[in-house]
Amino acid sequence: FTFEEANFPEYIQKTLMQQDFEKPTSIQSVTWPLASSGRDVIGIAQTGSGKTLAFMLPALVHIMNQNDRSCRDGPIALVMTPTRELCQQVTKVSQAFSRACKINSVAVFGGAKRHSQLADIRAGAPILVATPGRLNDLTSSGELTLNKVTYLVLDEADRMLDMGFEPQIQKIVRQIRKNRQTLMWSATWPKDIQRLASKFLKDPVEIHV
Ligand code: AMP
Repeated sequence: FTFEEANFPEYIQKTLMQQDFEKPTSIQSVTWPLASSGRDVIGIAQTGSGKTLAFMLPALVHIMNQNDRSCRDGPIALVMTPTRELCQQVTKVSQAFSRACKINSVAVFGGAKRHSQLADIRAGAPILVATPGRLNDLTSSGELTLNKVTYLVLDEADRMLDMGFEPQIQKIVRQIRKNRQTLMWSATWPKDIQRLASKFLKDPVEIHV
């Protein structure tokens, strides 16, 4: 499987070629066609597997296929991460690709000024990467709505549960429309994660790498 065979649009292909990657990782080869066809995906994969681009590139195509990408009233793609470090790291990866198509990716996490994060969102952010605590804060206060979200990613779901974020995650996902695409990533596959997956995902494809 090559990058050309992934058949991404020019605006992604060009940035991919600039990365000095030799070929797609196995998780990318399997996820890209599935996610691009609109399927829900459960990915059991570790950090370092290339999972970030596995979910991010189909997210970009998903957004570019929408007519209205101004997104001043909320994101189209939402990625939830357990920690602020991962949140910033995922946003950086996303920005490397989204800049080329003039799409903004914004990170939202605790411990930083919420008014500057809100200003970034209101300037228009089709991709929002967020930790559950701060995200819940912003939606509970009515400052942010998630009714435009159609592509949802739960990254490192097992870590989010370990950190006690399940109530926040449940509350957030309830605000997102049911006819969305959902991708859930986890390093492990315990009962709790299986339960969450069966609640949040529709007819998902399970990928183990
Ligand atoms: P991740 O698992 O998403 O945290 O990615 C881990 C590292 O792999 C990051 O530094 C990426 O830049 C890198 N990476 C992602 N895709 C590829 C690829 N196809 N070939 C080589 N490295 C990659």
